[in-house]
Amino acid sequence: MKRGILQELGLNLADTNINYLGLPLFRSKNKDVNFNFILDNLVSKLHGWKMKMLSKAGLATLIKSVGLALLVYTMQTTKLSKKLASKIDGMVRDFWWGCEQGNRGLYLKAWDHLCLPKSREGSGFRKSMEFNQALLAKWGWALLTEDQSLCCRVLRAKYLKNKPLFEATYKDSDSWFWKNVVKSIDILRKGACKVISNGEETYVWKDPWVVHGKELYPKPITSCLERVTKVADLLTSDGEWDIPKLESLFNTETISDILKGGRPSSQGRDRWIWTKEGNRKFTTKSAYLIPALERAPSCVVAPALWNRLWNSKILERHKILWWGILSNALPIREILVKRIQIEDVTCPLCGEAEESMEHLFLYCNFAYHLWKSSPWGTPLTLVVGLGTGLNFFGT
Ligand SMILES: [Zn+2]
Repeated sequence: MKRGILQELGLNLADTNINYLGLPLFRSKNKDVNFNFILDNLVSKLHGWKMKMLSKAGLATLIKSVGLALLVYTMQTTKLSKKLASKIDGMVRDFWWGCEQGNRGLYLKAWDHLCLPKSREGSGFRKSMEFNQALLAKWGWALLTEDQSLCCRVLRAKYLKNKPLFEATYKDSDSWFWKNVVKSIDILRKGACKVISNGEETYVWKDPWVVHGKELYPKPITSCLERVTKVADLLTSDGEWDIPKLESLFNTETISDILKGGRPSSQGRDRWIWTKEGNRKFTTKSAYLIPALERAPSCVVAPALWNRLWNSKILERHKILWWGILSNALPIREILVKRIQIEDVTCPLCGEAEESMEHLFLYCNFAYHLWKSSPWGTPLTLVVGLGTGLNFFGT
């Protein structure tokens, strides 16, 4: 096939390292070799920035808006290898923590943790691997919802052949692009759901169609799953739900979830919606959040308080400082002593107590006087304000 494409394009058979629309036209077996240009681009961007001149907020903005944006174009169609994705994450992580080349850095929080959603103690970065999956899932979504797209029609005709997308598989000989699409289907399974109109195109047991259900699939109470095939079999002749039939097949929770959706519209075909967004439209952001939220540990600080901080009108660098305080990610002596050898852990400002987060920002004599002259008043007002969720963050 490679030979045919080259001849059709009028190219020399030796021209196998050519790019088309910014991406390698042909892939070698060692795929990473073809995508090393991503690392080169990232290195030149990161080294071009004077990181010592920037605040953490400046670094975060550069990483998110320039560094990671560089990858989006490639990751929309290509699944990066685990090795390449972790190299990218490592480079960005080193940049964020201020580690120069050759120096072993001091990472106060794992990169996985920083890539959690902001409401779950993260700082809004994205793990390349998970973001890559979310971008590729967009193709699966297009296969579910777009009838007219030429690309989708070709993929459907070649690989699906009337099979539902969720049953798609791939062979070794299939194209790398198709394999990538199939690998991203797992994310779609957790958020895509069918809204029933007449039930003719929805399978009772194979498709997710219980929009108000926790798992989107119906839960059976019988082992006779063959009795019904399509959701249309669960409707009466005037388009209402056939309650006795529902009761003979599903548990009460499923029936209640089905009825919450009301009477099926009977207008047009059954259609797919994305349950992870309020407007029911697929976004890569919400697809990224699925695996990120699954691996998020339970937070010490409530998600509502984190949202309050990140949505507040204070300066971005103050938000990052607050994030550092609340998630124990600042290089204070109480934290450093657990990682490196430090002989003296007392506060360098007053010399009277251990330099802990509470001491440095609340109880240190030095800090106390700084707070007192600030618009927020004494540390006591601050603690009360935070504890009761008062208007401290200026929202
Ligand atoms: Zn002190």
